Amino acid sequence: MMVRHQLKSRGIRDTRLLEAMGNVPRHVFVPREYVDQAYADGPLPIGGGQTISQPFMVAWMTELLTLTGQEKILEVGTGSGYQAAILSLLADRIFSIERSRELAAQARERLRWLGYGNVEVIEGDGSQGYPEGAPYDGIIVTAGAPDIPRPLLEQLAEVGRLVIPVGGSGMQMLVLAQRRGDEFPTRELGSCAFVPLLGRYGWSGRGDGRSRGGRL
Ligand code: SAH
Repeated sequence: MMVRHQLKSRGIRDTRLLEAMGNVPRHVFVPREYVDQAYADGPLPIGGGQTISQPFMVAWMTELLTLTGQEKILEVGTGSGYQAAILSLLADRIFSIERSRELAAQARERLRWLGYGNVEVIEGDGSQGYPEGAPYDGIIVTAGAPDIPRPLLEQLAEVGRLVIPVGGSGMQMLVLAQRRGDEFPTRELGSCAFVPLLGRYGWSGRGDGRSRGGRL
């Protein structure tokens, strides 16, 4: 149902991705009170003002990484762990970083329980990336950033891809950046709405809300 009506109908074509979306039990990643809406066509609250993304958004962003199974991936914003579970079926190794201790612990537990053994959940500020695992073939940011954090570009492997929502705190543009040596050509792909990326290279939550790229 979800795969056919929400994903195929909107142009998601990657068969491995469609299969993964059909296999990961999304209801395990939503709070008990929303289990009946787990496969509905929208985001859902996961506590602390955070959300699990709409299934189509997860599929769209994942497809942009053009995964073949060999890749090492960084996800910024683990949240429920759902996106990480999808990635775990499509790439070799996943690092997922989450600033909320509680969400990180819950997601780690849930992913272990479901047997997604190639995902490592780290608690920390993912706006600075996770240098310990770099370079990454793909980086996916599931929170809205004021600008593309420089450390994320620097942690990309050659021809590595970064998918990130960039823009204001309400709506953002989904941006795809790709490494070509020291160049990072970018493409704007369409609008989206994510909760804010906080942290050093995200929204500071002070003053005009814009961080100073770590210079504060
Ligand atoms: N991908 C998630 C949804 C993410 S919601 C899923 O599949 O469920 C965005 C998440 O980003 C929230 O959990 C929020 O706590 C986290 N976040 C915000 N700023 C962050 C930062 N600087 N580093 C790591 N995580 C961050």
